[in-house]
Amino acid sequence: MRVAVFSAKAYDRRFLDAANAAFGHELDYLEARLDASTAALAAGRPAVCVFVNDRLDAGVLEALASVGVKAVALRCAGYNNVDLAAAERLGITVVRVPAYSPEAVAEFTLGLILALDRNIPRACNRVRENNFALDGLIGRNLSGRVAGVVGTGRIGALVARMLRLGFGCEVLASDVFQDEALVAAGVRYVPVETLLREADLVSLHCPLTPETRHLIDATAIAQARDGVMIVNTSRGALIDTTALIEGLKSRKVGGVALDVYEQEADLFFEDLSNEIIQDDVFQRLLTFPNVLVTGHQAFLTEEALGAIAQTTLGSLAEIEAGQVPRHQVLREAVVAGG
Ligand code: NAD
Repeated sequence: MRVAVFSAKAYDRRFLDAANAAFGHELDYLEARLDASTAALAAGRPAVCVFVNDRLDAGVLEALASVGVKAVALRCAGYNNVDLAAAERLGITVVRVPAYSPEAVAEFTLGLILALDRNIPRACNRVRENNFALDGLIGRNLSGRVAGVVGTGRIGALVARMLRLGFGCEVLASDVFQDEALVAAGVRYVPVETLLREADLVSLHCPLTPETRHLIDATAIAQARDGVMIVNTSRGALIDTTALIEGLKSRKVGGVALDVYEQEADLFFEDLSNEIIQDDVFQRLLTFPNVLVTGHQAFLTEEALGAIAQTTLGSLAEIEAGQVPRHQVLREAVVAGG
């Protein structure tokens, strides 16, 4: 199948080309991000392959349909950037990669927690300047602390296990479904309000839906423990960044580690080191000594990229063969929140 691969980076090409040896798709790599101004570049291809910050709203989907696109393959798990109702109306099949390597994201989440809590990036910067003073670098043991995991699906369940069994935290969890294996491991399910009230550390692992947008807002922050640490490796819009900044300024929030940001589409995945960043909220966030931000890289392991390529190209082969793809995203799934 001929496929326009949008937002293609060198690492995407490497893993897609390697996996494609078994499929023989015709992959046309485009550096451009998919939006209204670039949709026409897909002309002549029945499928497009996209990533988290490509835009697939109704207008873009209509533009894609008008140039003959019949399938959208997301090389990611989240699909909050796709107007599924419009896709259904236009007869465009949408597929995603539901689980490529939850370990990649869970391990990175633990990395962020440790790096933030123990001031590892700040310490490395100091040592680079021959500053070996330890003032200001005091951390806290994870062992014995109360960790709250919101969303215990593939990634959240692993994070809960690592915190509980690996670090000896008391783990509270909040989800619409209860994972009995986690309960057996000592994880306690509580309503999200209780989790916020009791947890020293809150880590977000639920999808972005209308219900979870700004889950962490001014009200949630007010309910939280003083000095709470907030970690988000899921989707940026789970957090109201302006409220988060107010929480940091008042010291109600004691630390923040983010791999995602609500307005990341204008920033992440590009080298903007010679540009003037216009996003004042993001720039303010970076000024806090107790904030750590990475540019949506929790998924970025050899294993995950290999699995993403394999599943994406497999789904496109199923579509080409006229089969119902196993990893199709249906509109009902949004209503169910998964
Ligand atoms: P998943 O579907 O396996 O699990 C999500 C869980 O959240 C489910 O158990 C679901 O019941 C639960 N949930 C839904 N609504 C909820 C609510 N209102 N409150 C509490 N729980 C709720 O998803 P996953 O694969 O574990 O992914 C989790 C998140 O991580 C997604 O947002 C995904 O987009 C994101 N993600 C980020 C990266 C990255 O590189 N940073 C990579 C992969 C996935």
